[in-house]
Amino acid sequence: MTDKCRICGATGHTPLWTVSGFDWVKCLSCGSLQTTKIYTQNELGRYYASDYYEGYTGRQDQGAYIDYIGQKAFIQGNLARRVRWILGQTEIPREADWLDVGCAAGFLLEVVREYGCRPWGIDYSDYGPRYARTSLAISGARQGVIEALPSDFPRHCDVISAIDVIEHVTDQHSMLTHCVQHLKAGGYLVGETFDPASLFARLTGPRWHAIDPPNHFAILSLRGIDTILRSHGLTKVGAIRLPRRLSLPAITTKFGVIGRNLSVGLYSSRLASVGVPVWLGDVVLWIYRKEIDNHRAT
Ligand SMILES: [Zn+2]
Repeated sequence: MTDKCRICGATGHTPLWTVSGFDWVKCLSCGSLQTTKIYTQNELGRYYASDYYEGYTGRQDQGAYIDYIGQKAFIQGNLARRVRWILGQTEIPREADWLDVGCAAGFLLEVVREYGCRPWGIDYSDYGPRYARTSLAISGARQGVIEALPSDFPRHCDVISAIDVIEHVTDQHSMLTHCVQHLKAGGYLVGETFDPASLFARLTGPRWHAIDPPNHFAILSLRGIDTILRSHGLTKVGAIRLPRRLSLPAITTKFGVIGRNLSVGLYSSRLASVGVPVWLGDVVLWIYRKEIDNHRAT
């Protein structure tokens, strides 16, 4: 990598740790954490093949999930709580075009459709969108990236969401910039991201579960996100830290290789349906709004 921060473009950084063969640095200007090397497109393609979402067998270069679809109830419960909060903070119209970037299997899109929104989703992997189309009847779920939206998608959306996504991509600045470009005037950009300044992050350092390359290449600071979005004329609507309910095996996957191997057994046991509320305070759900045209003209 060049010496520049991939988020804010500043040059000063301090080295942190080496985790799974990736060196991490912290930008002295915006406080974002990032790896010094990132995956090529070929490496990303291999990583997000279908075994990212299922079938973990212990290989280190394998994906992050063991049974993503099997965890639908937990994941969707968490997402529904977030959608309710977002709807309470905003003036999202009925029948809004809602684009979920990094839509995975379309669990969030199924929730927003229940509220009357038109669901659109893209994901780097084909596995999730295919499930959303065939099992959830969400025809607007496709493999793709925000930098090249499918031609039949609306060019501008009322809402664009990116929940647990920004840390996965290799060019966060490009992703956020393209999100802004595909928002209507007055539209909302919502995201949930890890907070490197949270107490839990500072206490756990390199053992923080957010520091897991090549799953994550950058943990953006709230200041870094704010700097990019304000530079595009967005204003902050609100932010909140919400707990998540996780299944017991989903929690054990956070504890290294031993935990992940233990969780393989748990997923096939009755404990797979035991839900545990987790409040680490290390993720933040935020909403920004694109300026309404001629907003200040009157
Ligand atoms: Zn920076």
